[in-house]
Amino acid sequence: MKSVIFIAPPAGGKGTFSNMICSKYNIPHISTGDLLREATYKDNEMGSYIKEQMQLGNLINDEIIFELIEKRIVEDDCKNGYVLDGFPRSIEQAITYEELLLSLNKDLGCVILLDTPKEIASKRISGRLSCPKCGKVYNSFFNEMKPKYENICDDCKVSLIKREDDNEKTYELRYNTYIEKTQPLINYYKSKNLLYVVNSTLSPEEVLKQIEDIIRGE
Ligand code: ADP
Repeated sequence: MKSVIFIAPPAGGKGTFSNMICSKYNIPHISTGDLLREATYKDNEMGSYIKEQMQLGNLINDEIIFELIEKRIVEDDCKNGYVLDGFPRSIEQAITYEELLLSLNKDLGCVILLDTPKEIASKRISGRLSCPKCGKVYNSFFNEMKPKYENICDDCKVSLIKREDDNEKTYELRYNTYIEKTQPLINYYKSKNLLYVVNSTLSPEEVLKQIEDIIRGE
């Protein structure tokens, strides 16, 4: 199977659909946001730098991102493809990633834009909960996204948490960063004929079906 890159505004569904695709096709889900959050649990300078930048809605330094990505994609479980959730997040990252793939003799795969209007994404933020262990995303506002038992991860059975950056103020900052840095990737990948667009406001079943059609067509 080819790898998949998801592009979406914050709370646009990258985490949710990456999880679904990865469980179904048994390929790794690489979320730079999750990897970075893990790094913030460490009580060191890098941990506090990452935490601070996340609160400000800024992108984390490329050097840190590439250290995480380079290490992860050469692992054995990535040899049959993987899903990238939250990376690349700027044209600069996309260019450096292509150079990295070239040096590893790996394919980029396809890029899927989860097209989500800002009002819908920001509404999702307030009800969003995630599992601190597996990263699965839930939403207490939408029936189809609720956990089976209130506040408990269906798979890991641990208590769900609300992300520190899931508040209105940080959301605005994250969204502005998305428009400035990440949105230009849409035209970048379109011009390379690698971009697919899925309307992420459809039902989760329909979105999943469209994503699977794209992946299978590859
Ligand atoms: P969302 O897309 O909903 O904002 P993520 O978990 O993907 O959530 O990202 C959370 C934060 O992690 C971002 O706001 C940013 O600070 C940081 N981050 C994630 N991926 C990257 C990346 N590829 N480059 C730089 N910073 C990143």
